[in-house]
Amino acid sequence: MTTVDLGDFGDGTRVVHGGHPEPEAGAPLLPGPVFAAPYHLGENGPSGDFYGRAGNPTWRGLESAIGELDGGHCVLLPSGMAAISTVLRSVLRAGDKLVLPSDGYYASRQLVSDELTELGLDVREIPTPGPWTDEVFEGARLVLLETPSNPGGDVCDIAELAERAHAAGALLAVDNTTATPLGQRPLELGADIVIASDTKALSGHSDILLGHVSVRDEELANRLLRARSLSGAIPGPFETWLAHRSMGTLDLRLSRQAENAAALVDALADHPAVTGLRWPGWSQDPAHELASRQMRRFGGVFRFELADADAVQSFIAKSRLVVAATSFGGLHSTADRRAQWGDPVPEGFLRFSAGCENPQDLVQDVLQALS
Ligand SMILES: *Cc1c(COP(=O)(O)O)cnc(C)c1O
Repeated sequence: MTTVDLGDFGDGTRVVHGGHPEPEAGAPLLPGPVFAAPYHLGENGPSGDFYGRAGNPTWRGLESAIGELDGGHCVLLPSGMAAISTVLRSVLRAGDKLVLPSDGYYASRQLVSDELTELGLDVREIPTPGPWTDEVFEGARLVLLETPSNPGGDVCDIAELAERAHAAGALLAVDNTTATPLGQRPLELGADIVIASDTKALSGHSDILLGHVSVRDEELANRLLRARSLSGAIPGPFETWLAHRSMGTLDLRLSRQAENAAALVDALADHPAVTGLRWPGWSQDPAHELASRQMRRFGGVFRFELADADAVQSFIAKSRLVVAATSFGGLHSTADRRAQWGDPVPEGFLRFSAGCENPQDLVQDVLQALS
């Protein structure tokens, strides 16, 4: 497929036009999803698509758009966890050393401890802010970072850690879910692999699950494509198309979400019921200086603590706009009490995802729900 050349256009233009075909009279602006299982082979055997598990034009449209933003070859997968498991299975061999964030997405650690035990991996769990001693990198095959981390919102230096991972002979992967490719470009900072759950802000409407991996190395991209085809865990064309359509407003949505997060953080900073407030976009956050250096913009996800689980329940019950839901990055403002999922955080810890509501409405509602 020939797609529109996006040259040096800005983010808003790139998310609107990315992966769209060149204009053609009578053709749709964004072609609909292709659901085919087998395709016509023609007289001389396969030339192009032949079977839906191996390739699909709807996937390639979105892969072209996301890959262009990430700065690499994008491989779509049916969820963020499918992206993580495909990377681990494709890169690691029995006995390899793997470094994981101890404060990152809990299912990554569960996957390693419950499902990949037969690989006999040497697993190190390191909190996002470190300490990143030389010993951590020694003999490692893969270092996975998550920055900003979920749910803590801590940040680590991708460029520095990529350099040190490479010096030790390891690959560096970054779970970029919270930032999205508009917020942070790990491949440009030296990472080898970007992983993301596009269930969150990238698709952003709380209605589909999807994930992707982007890599600079073409050989690794081909290995991931092959792993997807052989595992059989493939994204649905309809979900893919919905994500492509939804991504067109990513720039607008992130702007409003960050505006709302900033307004809420400002309103909560000195609130007597609130402690442990953190948002990488907040000038008083300990990670703000580093985050400002390596991130291109901030999104709407921040965190804070209320006294206990009852205080959280009362907050959600009194709020008219904020709903309790896990996941984040959607149109609706949501709050998730992370201790209920087993995250090692206090009972009253909330991960808050600012949605696209009006800032005044949201601030007013959150303040009355806390009173
Ligand atoms: C949600 C999430 C995942 C998992 O993604 P799914 O699409 O739910 O499989 C992985 N990493 C991070 C940081 C996430 O927030």
